[in-house]
Amino acid sequence: MKLLLDAEYLLSKELTGDGVQKIKKYISDETKDILYKGLPKDKLSEAPKILESNISRDAISIKIESGTYVRAHSVAIRLKNSISSLLGKEFKVGIKKVTGKTYTLSLELDKIPKDPIKIPFVENISIEGNNAILVLTNLDEEFLTKNYVDRIINLFYEKVEAQFWGGKGEHWELISKSENKEPITTKDPTSELLALGWLKQGPSQGQWFYHAPIAALLRTMERIAVEEVLKPLGFIEVIAPKMVPFEIWEKTGHLSGSEPEIYYISPPISRDISVWEEVIDLYKITKKAYVEKIRERMRDPIGGMTYAQCPPMYWAFDGKTIDDSEFPVLIYDKSGPSYRWEAGGRQGIERVNEFWRIEPVFIGYPEQLIELKEKMMERYAYVFNKIFEIEWRTAWVTPFYMAQAGQTGIEKETERIKGTVDYESWIPSRGSREESEWLEFQNLSIVGDKYTKAFSIKSSKNKELWSGCSGIGLQRWTVSFLAQKGLDSDNWPKEFKKYLGEFPRQIKFV
Ligand code: ATP
Ligand code: ZN
Ligand code: MG
Repeated sequence: MKLLLDAEYLLSKELTGDGVQKIKKYISDETKDILYKGLPKDKLSEAPKILESNISRDAISIKIESGTYVRAHSVAIRLKNSISSLLGKEFKVGIKKVTGKTYTLSLELDKIPKDPIKIPFVENISIEGNNAILVLTNLDEEFLTKNYVDRIINLFYEKVEAQFWGGKGEHWELISKSENKEPITTKDPTSELLALGWLKQGPSQGQWFYHAPIAALLRTMERIAVEEVLKPLGFIEVIAPKMVPFEIWEKTGHLSGSEPEIYYISPPISRDISVWEEVIDLYKITKKAYVEKIRERMRDPIGGMTYAQCPPMYWAFDGKTIDDSEFPVLIYDKSGPSYRWEAGGRQGIERVNEFWRIEPVFIGYPEQLIELKEKMMERYAYVFNKIFEIEWRTAWVTPFYMAQAGQTGIEKETERIKGTVDYESWIPSRGSREESEWLEFQNLSIVGDKYTKAFSIKSSKNKELWSGCSGIGLQRWTVSFLAQKGLDSDNWPKEFKKYLGEFPRQIKFV
């Protein structure tokens, strides 16, 4: 990696003879500390260098070259600070602003990208031999200070990698598989439920109206999750907000890929009825919603509807120091639906735009979470084997870019702890157990210190804190069960029927 930055420092007033001499001497003889600070001892040959400098009236230009370790933009900011204090004391001259006039990044490539790559802030990307040359211009101080360049470099490599992985989103590896179970049916649950009139599609895309019998099934699933998994392990219920402002997703990182699936929320520009008078009158006359007129009266989006329930749960602990006797902190939310724009991916009641999940979140010491994960997996296995009596399996999934970076943890059992376990069920209506695509009906993740760091959640003894969560999809549990057990409750397992209680009757339509 070679980085070449033309930095320009604009002075508050013209620099005179003595000042010019002082700066020249400083740049040529006294910048070693600044260039070497933070450089690993065995990388001294890769120290950044000042290639050129030029002082003209009220501006200083410095050309900085660097490698990977201490990067040119950090040197530019260090120089700003040291030159400021030098000039301020003796000459009463300040630095008004620093600009990265041009920043040229030469990045080595293992693979030459097949298609052009676009990255915000980057004016031009060209390939020269085994290097990609990225050119950026007119960068302000915030840009240079806040790691933007480092993230641009990572993003570039990620995009190159993605071109070679094509549509493959995840690395998948089987962890465990239940006994084979002969299914009672091979029919598709949604079609069956529709035929019975227990379900009604809509009113909006990816939404269903669940009549009493199927509502009772969803609630049964909820009771089983709470009574058989969460309560025995000590989880306590919280109620998390379902409108999530961007500030929360900025911290959790959900804004790095969930954007196409978010339902955004815009409040009205005013609560004043006079602002809305035209829209109201139009409705009174035409009995129609005038969408363009409504849009004119909406603010910019402030965030979106719940995508996953955990972000506001982490936010609830933002900046908190938790008493050590509390760990592991075990909470869950089941208070409202989640929303995702699944577009063409919608399917039955199992892949919908509005769905219900229970989400347990856990925060504790690494060893506590390792133990908890085991226990949760045991409880889940009990539910699927002994209450549902279904055929299911677990798989280890890793986003492809982590798989590529050798972070799948396949080799090291300890590294396997972090990451996501997907639970999948066989859906016989989709085909044979060997060949059909199974349904992911829930997952369990341990994310390490990612969120505890992002939200500055601390232990009173200042020990390392990890966190994790599990997404229990109620529609997915229901489909997993019905797809194998059918709709005739006489065929359902005894343990399941205990939780179901009396099955509500369906309203008769004529
Ligand atoms: P998929 O790959 O099926 O889209 P996902 O990886 O997007 O799932 P997660 O974000 O991991 O799902 O969400 C966890 C759980 O939430 C899933 O295991 C599932 O139970 C539920 N879930 C996610 N999306 C939907 C949906 N569109 N409809 C119903 N349940 C869903
Ligand atoms: Zn989560
Ligand atoms: Mg999804």
